[in-house]
Amino acid sequence: MTSELRPEQLRTWGVVGAGGAGFPTEVKCRARAEIVIVNAAECEPLLHKDKELLRAFPDEIFAGLRAVMKMTGAIRGVIGIKEKYTDVIDILHPLLPENVALHLLGDFYPAGDEFILVHTVTGRIIPPGGLPIHVGCVVNNVETLINVGRAGPVVVKYLTVAGAVKNPVTLCVPLGISFSECMELAGGATIPDAVALVGGMMMGAFCDDFSTPVIKTTGGIIILPREHDLVRRYTRKPNHIRRIGLSACDQCSYCTELCPRYLLGHPIQPHIVMRSLGFSAPAPAMMSGALACCECNLCTLMSCPEDLDPRAACIDAKRLACKAGVAPPHREAQAHPLVEERRTPLKRLMNRLGVAGFVNRGPLIAGVAETHRVLLPLKQHAGAPAEPTVKIGDRVRTGDMVADSPEGKLGACIHASIDGRVVSIDGSIVIER
Ligand code: SF4
Ligand code: SF4
Repeated sequence: MTSELRPEQLRTWGVVGAGGAGFPTEVKCRARAEIVIVNAAECEPLLHKDKELLRAFPDEIFAGLRAVMKMTGAIRGVIGIKEKYTDVIDILHPLLPENVALHLLGDFYPAGDEFILVHTVTGRIIPPGGLPIHVGCVVNNVETLINVGRAGPVVVKYLTVAGAVKNPVTLCVPLGISFSECMELAGGATIPDAVALVGGMMMGAFCDDFSTPVIKTTGGIIILPREHDLVRRYTRKPNHIRRIGLSACDQCSYCTELCPRYLLGHPIQPHIVMRSLGFSAPAPAMMSGALACCECNLCTLMSCPEDLDPRAACIDAKRLACKAGVAPPHREAQAHPLVEERRTPLKRLMNRLGVAGFVNRGPLIAGVAETHRVLLPLKQHAGAPAEPTVKIGDRVRTGDMVADSPEGKLGACIHASIDGRVVSIDGSIVIER
């Protein structure tokens, strides 16, 4: 059935990138591509979801991959997976469909950045400001392909709950369940004043409100003590970051020398952006270079010996560039001769982050977790918020559409993730069983 899929069907099922960005999969599937790459690199420390899904659901993933290859006209499929996952590789090898191969990746960060992955797998470099399709590739996350392969409304989410919890696990939960319920499903926190980094330690977001719902892009919840150094770094005030950066940056340029996008030959040089902290009006060239920053956080959390935040400076510069209408410098990029040698091993990164002591596994728990209440934000994807198609008091069943994507706009539909009654609609739809 999935081999006859059409891209617009994915919009009505609400399929969006499950790896973090939430970009509607329909749009990627409308492109003509040569290679579809499955992003199973999962390089954020302590996250295990993609590997667990590949182990548990290879048939659904291959069904999704075949469907995307058919829609895009791709002649090749490649699964980028870390070579250390030998048990999963052994499961996949005999099942590989025709024209699909595995590409074994080293254990480095950020192996899963689309630009890095495309370069590692194909040797092609996406130009600054470009997309994988500019070099003939479409990249999809493992869970996204499961959602394509299942050929129905997206109502569950897979995520790893790790860090300071009793039993780190990968869960399948109804969309809209709360973080606190997920934490309990992992045995609860092992520390009194728990906070979370959502999505990962490198590119995640700080959260201490555990009533927050799981959405289509929640890939992981890392529980940490509030006093953990990473939490301190995530919660620093922008003014403080800027003031310290201005006075303490010695322009050693380590942030640039180890920046994965700089090593791909992109025009980003975070140490130059740091210089701009002292200028009242930074030069457009500085700002346009920052547009090539993928916000991987390596410069801030790994490279900088002074505990500064070049990533924050790059994000500020990007914002200024967008405001000033500065375009990304489109040009051919050539990888740095030391691109391989300067990769950051995950083990070293985990030591640096102070998380090497946490249990580093997340086995998948079978079945979908139960809950009596879900909160479904109308915007949990890139593009326009979905528009409610139900009203308070309506009874809904799992899989019923509750919000539609506005006609002609980028977006995705949203569906009930439990059977129940709609009790509230206000930026989110709340359903109680
Ligand atoms: S690594 Fe830190 S100190 Fe060195 S140039 Fe970059 S921001 Fe400045
Ligand atoms: S966050 Fe830092 S290391 Fe990562 S791409 Fe941006 S400038 Fe480079």
